[in-house]
Amino acid sequence: MSHPQNGSSDRTPFLHHHHHHPPTVSNGHVPALPPPTLSSYGLNSTLLTSPQRDHNPDNYDDMRLEFNHLIFSSLEQYLPPHLLNRSRDEKANYMTSILHRYLPESERIRIQKHKEYRQKIISNFTVDHFERWVNQTKFRIMRPNTMNQYGAVLDDFGMETMLDRLMNDFILPISRVFFAEVGGSTLDSHHGFVVEYGTNRDVELGFHVDDSEITLNICLGKEFSGGELFFRGVRCDEHVNTETQSEEIFDYSHVPGRAVLHRGRHRHGARPTTSGHRLNLILWCRSSAFREMRRYQRNFSSWCGECRRKKKERERLSIAATKQELLRL
Ligand SMILES: [Zn+2]
Repeated sequence: MSHPQNGSSDRTPFLHHHHHHPPTVSNGHVPALPPPTLSSYGLNSTLLTSPQRDHNPDNYDDMRLEFNHLIFSSLEQYLPPHLLNRSRDEKANYMTSILHRYLPESERIRIQKHKEYRQKIISNFTVDHFERWVNQTKFRIMRPNTMNQYGAVLDDFGMETMLDRLMNDFILPISRVFFAEVGGSTLDSHHGFVVEYGTNRDVELGFHVDDSEITLNICLGKEFSGGELFFRGVRCDEHVNTETQSEEIFDYSHVPGRAVLHRGRHRHGARPTTSGHRLNLILWCRSSAFREMRRYQRNFSSWCGECRRKKKERERLSIAATKQELLRL
């Protein structure tokens, strides 16, 4: 994760990433082929139930197709025998029509939207540009969370692969060691977004916990003052609003190019960004195994500061009571 070192420049790590993306990403939404329809093959167009392993599939990587070319190469072995020697165009059309049947309408629209996003974003990605485009097209985007007005969700426009790698190759090795008790070793999904603070943007972020097991917060820049993070102890659901102990007070000042990794349940907030413009990339990492486990284990959380404090208090009282008993004897 060396790119964010460059946080003070205009070039964000994702921009860099995009230049190296495989060509499928830059495929336009204008297909070279006429849109395939089921009727051109009859409604009983179908696939074999087991592949013909001795058939050598064509390569589709130079064609403008609606789905990844590798899908076509692998699907080809399932084509009915009479289609195997047809032209690539014919086979691609046939397979596209079959793929359409297996994708619900909403998913198809989503894929189409992704292609449109990529077209517009690929050459000039910044959140500013994205916002402008959103306003122009009146397309409702999902806000990163319920608390930030400004920002953009990254998982939604073609950065899943980069964020997957960020989580698996960079965050997991660290969180496995430091945050195993909150699911840090079993992270399996994420929600990534960029937030902006400063003039005409969100100014601060109130005290909260994240909907994550582990949160990576990278400061991308640019020039700003203020915006410090304040941390106030890790809490379970039951104790999220309990008092902060003095030893739990921890404040952190952002430095462009540096990141903080913390438990999602670590209560925190951001102080006002008093001047300039601050851009942070947030990745909420989640563990379905940890969430499942938590449903059955509610009474005590080893990682909650308040649970631990109460447990100690009970132990202290119990020891005191035992001493009292012993004195009476
Ligand atoms: Zn607790």
